[in-house]
Amino acid sequence: MADDVQAVGRLLKKARRVLFITGAGVSAESGIPTFRGLGAAFANGMTEEGIPFETVLSGPTFQRRPELSWKYFFLLKQATQGKQPNPAHHAMAALQSPQRQVWIATQNIDGLHHLAGSKRVIELHGTMKRLLCSDSECDYSAEADTFQDLPLLPRCPKCQAVLRPDIVLYEEMLPEAALERYALEQSKGFDLLFSVGTTSIFHYVIEPIFNAARAGIPTVEINPDETSVSDLVQFRFPAPAGITLQRILEATKG
Ligand code: NAD
Ligand code: ZN
Repeated sequence: MADDVQAVGRLLKKARRVLFITGAGVSAESGIPTFRGLGAAFANGMTEEGIPFETVLSGPTFQRRPELSWKYFFLLKQATQGKQPNPAHHAMAALQSPQRQVWIATQNIDGLHHLAGSKRVIELHGTMKRLLCSDSECDYSAEADTFQDLPLLPRCPKCQAVLRPDIVLYEEMLPEAALERYALEQSKGFDLLFSVGTTSIFHYVIEPIFNAARAGIPTVEINPDETSVSDLVQFRFPAPAGITLQRILEATKG
């Protein structure tokens, strides 16, 4: 492992463009549980209504039973509210330099990469920090640090349609602007790619790693568990993100 840390550190020193693909595991050390780790709330992936969390947090359920989805939006907000970046977020932010563009494509909706000072963040799944009107004709949106003062089914002050957090629900499309930026930066190429703290189930987080590995561009995975990209990557660290990224950051300074 120590040799690999040094090797990745050396690659980073030379790299001009780096991509980190991140998931819920990166925020686990900030005290935000991963979906599968959301304890009693999602025991065995099920809500207390006996519905899979992917269904409760899906576009179609929000359309049909918004009050049920909102019950879990409140829970998600509570889980992310007031949380601070951890050594993993800080290491990624510290790797930015005038010579090195560090891009972060995150599935997280907690805003912690921004809070840590990362400048080039693509939020593939949106953010819990903003509320939107669910009527696409209405342009209402508002920043929301907390949902505490909201009624059980919050409504738009402009048009009375149901509000929603600005996140991508299951079975919904990813935000166009984020996708465009992600495609553009991939087309420019990266010298080094990382997959950190994600189970890598979505094709758009697997493909950049797959394509880089096939093209002989170095790839790194940091995740205590095996995932669908574990066999593809050149360097695999089966360890927590915080300590591993801090060691790699140190190795760039030697
Ligand atoms: P996931 O919950 O499916 O998987 C998390 C991954 O992180 C697992 O592979 C696990 O082994 C790994 N992990 C756990 N602790 C880690 C650590 N300390 N260091 C490194 N890796 C660690 O999450 P996912 O695949 O990222 O995404 C599923 C969905 O969950 C996404 O749509 C995302 O929006 C949502 N989500 C977001 C947050 C957040 O914003 N913080 C939290 C929970 C879920
Ligand atoms: Zn509205």
